[in-house]
Amino acid sequence: MTTFNRREILISFLGLSAAAAACRRTSLPPLPAGEIVGASDVFGHRLRDGLQITIPADAWTDVPIVIVGGGVAGLSAARSLIKQGFEDFVLIELEKAAGGTSRSGSTRDISFPWGAHYIPAPMKENRELVVLLDEMGVIEGSDKDGEPAVLEEFLCRDPEERIFYKGRWYEGLYLHAGASVEDKNQLEKFNAEVGRWVAWRDSNGRRAFTLPVSACSDDAEVTALDRISIADWMNQQGFNSPRLRWWIDYACRDDYGMTLDQTSAWAGLFYFCSRVTKPSVESKPLITWPEGNGRLVNHLFEIAKSKVELNRAAVELIPMEVNGRASVDVVTLDQDGRNPRGYRAQTVIFAAPQFVARYIIRPYRENPPPHLAEFQFGSWMVANLTLRDRPKQESRRDFPLAWDNVLYESPSLGYVVATHQRSRDYGPTVFTYYYPLCDENARVARTRLLEMNWLAWAEVTLTDLSRAHPDIRSLVERLDVMRWGHAMIRPRTGFMWGRARREGARAFRSIHFAHSELSGVALFEEAFDVGVRVADEVIKELRS
Ligand SMILES: Cc1cc2nc3c(=O)[nH]c(=O)nc-3n(C[C@H](O)[C@H](O)[C@H](O)COP(=O)(O)OP(=O)(O)OC[C@H]3O[C@@H](n4cnc5c(N)ncnc54)[C@H](O)[C@@H]3O)c2cc1C
Repeated sequence: MTTFNRREILISFLGLSAAAAACRRTSLPPLPAGEIVGASDVFGHRLRDGLQITIPADAWTDVPIVIVGGGVAGLSAARSLIKQGFEDFVLIELEKAAGGTSRSGSTRDISFPWGAHYIPAPMKENRELVVLLDEMGVIEGSDKDGEPAVLEEFLCRDPEERIFYKGRWYEGLYLHAGASVEDKNQLEKFNAEVGRWVAWRDSNGRRAFTLPVSACSDDAEVTALDRISIADWMNQQGFNSPRLRWWIDYACRDDYGMTLDQTSAWAGLFYFCSRVTKPSVESKPLITWPEGNGRLVNHLFEIAKSKVELNRAAVELIPMEVNGRASVDVVTLDQDGRNPRGYRAQTVIFAAPQFVARYIIRPYRENPPPHLAEFQFGSWMVANLTLRDRPKQESRRDFPLAWDNVLYESPSLGYVVATHQRSRDYGPTVFTYYYPLCDENARVARTRLLEMNWLAWAEVTLTDLSRAHPDIRSLVERLDVMRWGHAMIRPRTGFMWGRARREGARAFRSIHFAHSELSGVALFEEAFDVGVRVADEVIKELRS
């Protein structure tokens, strides 16, 4: 591992001026306690290096379906199978907790997310998701337009968002303060363009952008947007307002971990258009919980838990043909690399990412299909900071602490407050801080993420937050860090409507793929949709 000094680390992750300001402060409180938690990159690297296992003859079990991966997609597939009376399956999850990038944690009596933290309220057309939320007690009937009505307690509480700019907090995420006439005109024109796409329908009545992606139009007029970046699209439209460009760039970093130049124009517009029912109305409100989407995971896990084997990894999938019938041998190990166990399955739902498929599907090891290389993943660092008290409000003119708190001049996304939804506005809390590594080259980003140890990431987090909260270091009791090396699929220019995504979604012998990456965007709705669809596909296959 390369070693860097504090100044080099801060320059690399926060830029020169933030580093220079931080290095001028000499007497700092000591760093709090904390550690790197979660995601097993060590086991992943062993898989990559080609682990070879022999399963003892008495450690094989016959089972019709094996699900590999207990993230949202795998758990959603499990729920669907159970709902349709298919109880004879097993779900293998590498980690000691289910949920993948949507899992959560807790400290004392405060729960917090480790990744995904909200979903927009679904539109009525997203029927399966409405059923799920209804089952969880989140929905209370429908409104006058037939749209599902979400119970007040699950809607993100006010104040929802604020932004820190040149020493002050302002309301919202678009920086209205100081906007010129031209800035305002461009914002209005951008919103009109979003409205135009929201109203757009293809000859089959499909919307250009909706959730899930599988329901979006594939008409050439819309998919052409995938051939350019959202930055190029903005240039074509004459959108050069710096604060408008910042806002769109922020949206891309927030949802995709990518910048304006890297993101497909289709994906950029999808962010703004897919959450709006009709032109000139507000985006759907946000649904959130203290533990973020961990609440959704816990609900799915409760349904499937008797079928789930945690702490167990699929290390090899061997497609076979026995007496003219297709099957798959699934070789597994526990996380310590011990207790080999095999499953003879008629079919496998592969709900782990494609980069894992590359190393564990036997024929892929020797002959990886070209589409695999097109699935590129972004890297994120997430830190959870346990605070004994809230930072002092620096100025009476500051907009107060919100759920989502964003720093305009930082490459991070700022933080969400875990106690916000519980209406606890004083005393101890947890801030969940998000830092996407947006390097053009995904491998470079991953190396930068993983070569930084806890100390380095704690320094970056606290220095960044000190811009807005000079007292933060003295308030943090604990700071834990999650390094997501393969955090989310990158919807870069050409990927959304290119061949790789289509080919990745096609079953290989009796292995069916079901991961949110196949939609091109990492969202709960996508993981849920693919899980449900693939479970239906598998049931149909088993019945035929
Ligand atoms: C920092 C961050 C913030 C996010 N914020 C949001 C948000 O606010 N809202 C939102 O909707 N989405 C958000 N997302 C996206 C989130 O990824 C999706 O919502 C969703 O959780 C993806 O689920 P998945 O099942 O497709 O994939 P994953 O979460 O990748 O799950 C795959 C599972 O497979 C397991 N696995 C891998 N290899 C093996 C193996 N060999 N054997 C067994 N198991 C294996 C993994 O451990 C994992 O549990 C965020 C993601 C990140 C990283």
